[in-house]
Amino acid sequence: MREFRYERAGDPAAAVALLAAEPAGAFLGGGTNLVDLMKLGVATPDVLVDVRTLTSADVTDLPDGGLRIGAAVPNADLAADRRVRERFPVLAQALLAGASGQLRNMATTGGNPLQRTRCVYFQDVTTPCNKRFPGSGCSAVGGYTRYHAILGIPAALPDPTAPETCIATHPSDMAVALAALDAQVQVLGPAGARALPFPDLHRLPGDDPSRDTVLEHGELITAIDLPPLAPSARSAYRKVRDRASYAFALVSVAAVVDDDSVRIALGGVAHKPWRASRAEEILRGRPLTEDAVRAAMEAELAAAQPQPGIDGGNGFKIPLVTRTVVATLRDLAGEEL
Ligand SMILES: Cc1cc2nc3c(=O)[nH]c(=O)nc-3n(C[C@H](O)[C@H](O)[C@H](O)COP(=O)(O)OP(=O)(O)OC[C@H]3O[C@@H](n4cnc5c(N)ncnc54)[C@H](O)[C@@H]3O)c2cc1C
Ligand code: SF4
Repeated sequence: MREFRYERAGDPAAAVALLAAEPAGAFLGGGTNLVDLMKLGVATPDVLVDVRTLTSADVTDLPDGGLRIGAAVPNADLAADRRVRERFPVLAQALLAGASGQLRNMATTGGNPLQRTRCVYFQDVTTPCNKRFPGSGCSAVGGYTRYHAILGIPAALPDPTAPETCIATHPSDMAVALAALDAQVQVLGPAGARALPFPDLHRLPGDDPSRDTVLEHGELITAIDLPPLAPSARSAYRKVRDRASYAFALVSVAAVVDDDSVRIALGGVAHKPWRASRAEEILRGRPLTEDAVRAAMEAELAAAQPQPGIDGGNGFKIPLVTRTVVATLRDLAGEEL
């Protein structure tokens, strides 16, 4: 058994200072992902700094009509919050589409978006994986790719031996909704506090697939802010998976429709929640007819790189994403589509 220390701090700043001094330490939220990865030998922190009781567990109203969600708010409480259900249904639906009731009771607002990929090779310490062990290669290329990316991949057939190769997807449902809502992440780090737009929190693999986000070591998520939506805005989340519950997304869509604009975020297709900015631009100010949405998604997916694989590959995601976007917008736009 590998030993590690468990620490508690008096306040968020003390937790940040504690972790900053421990290069191999990690914050502990609900532990539903981190502890699993420790059992598998994928995560090997020396120190766990428990932040579940340090950050706020409240959802509070902001003066501009938005909401501030404390990082310790459990996923279950957030999904049940009346203001979230009424004003941001896309977020409540995304939360309820994830995991199980028991897990949602433990999982936190800070920990959920930072959960690691469900790539089977990442979780199997006997296989090469650039994300887990930088420079070792990527076992997913040509392997099991059903749950892997089609967007944000530089080459049609990535080199499995290259240190920058990673075709993993980000697994969080909640994160896809937060990307569509243009949420703001409140962060406290060794250098002080900062806020960043949620769509900028996660990153593509670039030259370092081991990094999922732009957060530096020791940076703590203290809250996530939801900016207000126009009273006429409607939003929804749709998740397609291999079975009806307790499964990660093959693809998912979070959409927010307003009078003359639409916001679309996609899950299950890239290393980060994918804002379909190209499609959004094409659809701005236009009636959301089925033809218009299909054409916009064709443009969005023009750069998609479906991956072959021993499970048949993931080319099915290209038409599936478009169908899921059409269905989601049809629910929101009613007769137009
Ligand atoms: C069987 C199973 C099925 C699941 N199905 C789904 C699903 O369908 N959809 C889905 O979206 N999720 C699913 N999940 C994942 C689940 O949602 C996550 O495990 C959970 O949301 C993680 O939150 P946590 O608070 O437990 O994070 P933890 O496990 O405590 O932490 C996760 C990561 O975040 C870091 N961290 C935690 N809090 C903070 C903070 N405040 N600031 C900075 N870093 C922090 C930790 O260091 C760690 O790296 C499933 C999990 C399981 C076990
Ligand atoms: S896709 Fe990424 S996480 Fe999966 S094996 Fe390759 S490098 Fe590792």
